[in-house]
Amino acid sequence: RVKAGGRSGYQTFSPEMLAAARELDLEQALRAALARGEFELHYQPQIRAGRGAVGVEALLRWRRGGELHPPGPFIALAEDTGLIVPIGAWVLREACAQFAAWRADGLELERVAVNVSARQLGEPDFPEVVLGALRTAGLPPRCLELELTESAVVRDVPGATRQLAQLRALGVRVALDDFGTGQSSLSLLRRMPVDVLKIDRSFVASLEAEGESVAVIRVVIALAQTLGLDLIAEGVENARQWEALRDLGCPTAQGYFFAAPLPAAEVRAWLGRSQG
Ligand code: C2E
Ligand code: CA
Ligand code: CA
Ligand code: CA
Repeated sequence: RVKAGGRSGYQTFSPEMLAAARELDLEQALRAALARGEFELHYQPQIRAGRGAVGVEALLRWRRGGELHPPGPFIALAEDTGLIVPIGAWVLREACAQFAAWRADGLELERVAVNVSARQLGEPDFPEVVLGALRTAGLPPRCLELELTESAVVRDVPGATRQLAQLRALGVRVALDDFGTGQSSLSLLRRMPVDVLKIDRSFVASLEAEGESVAVIRVVIALAQTLGLDLIAEGVENARQWEALRDLGCPTAQGYFFAAPLPAAEVRAWLGRSQG
């Protein structure tokens, strides 16, 4: 173990050096995790009022030494190091294969949504990676939705649009994640064709406390209706939020109120319970 103190006899390490060493450890651990198959996807149901679950969002997890880790602590490093490119390709293949298996099994879901980072979108072969995942799984493109954050696309809107054009023409849907939290939500919509807006959970969370959130959600809903876009509210945690959203005109949502992200093996049972 490294001693960070300055006592004689010990090598001293600056906080920066320690942080760098930890990052290197984590980077190597991420590489090994991909090679060893330690990543898995959990799936959070997306609910439409009066219909039940219509889709699922695939969310990355890392099973490490018996523990299951959410992506928050490692996704930024995966993006910085570029490891998100092979990890993201695995996510696309796995989500498409799982969804195809569910369809073959008779599950009546319309689509699976997959999160895509800026780094992946910037790869020249991104469209081929997506189409390859669909083809291998035997899944129609309309069954796949790609979730992109504003920050992932604003840096290169023409590039992102170009990368997505072929996929959208084939029926793949594009969702803007965390919508409303960026600096340029409105101008982005003018410059980039998308199919779905995901209302960020910060607006849903403050729905009851802050009149402002209601105003923002009203505007986003009006915008979606005018532009003919689908809408999904995220982070719905209780019945009051769900009722308020439906009253405002947003009939599709996901969140702990309905279900947390579930291991693939639990999705079928959850759907059976929620519909039966
Ligand atoms: P996100 O795309 O905005 O995903 C929603 C996050 O909110 C998920 O966290 C989900 O578990 C959590 N969540 C769902 N319902 C509720 C709720 O009712 N209340 C609250 N407080 N939270 C809720 P998670 O799974 O930890 O993922 C965090 C972020 O990591 C995601 O945010 C996404 O940006 C990123 N991410 C996850 N999987 C992938 C992936 O496969 N590829 C990439 N590039 N990013 C991913
Ligand atoms: Ca998402
Ligand atoms: Ca989100
Ligand atoms: Ca987010």
